[in-house]
Amino acid sequence: MTYRCALCGRSMAAPAVTVGQLAVGPSCARRAGLIELGRKRAGFVRLFASMKPTREDDKTMDLFAEVAA
Ligand SMILES: [Zn+2]
Repeated sequence: MTYRCALCGRSMAAPAVTVGQLAVGPSCARRAGLIELGRKRAGFVRLFASMKPTREDDKTMDLFAEVAA
């Protein structure tokens, strides 16, 4: 699925944040301060859900799995 940035109109694979039904790309979101708003869950601003997996999360999972095993 292709998203279109609500601020600059560029198409992208995945938005950084969503504002209601609108998708905003990473560079526009950072410039507009939407990343911070998304973290705080201010108004309709949300961090895009499918961007959850990060390297830090993988590390945490590995450590946790070792401890659990
Ligand atoms: Zn944009």
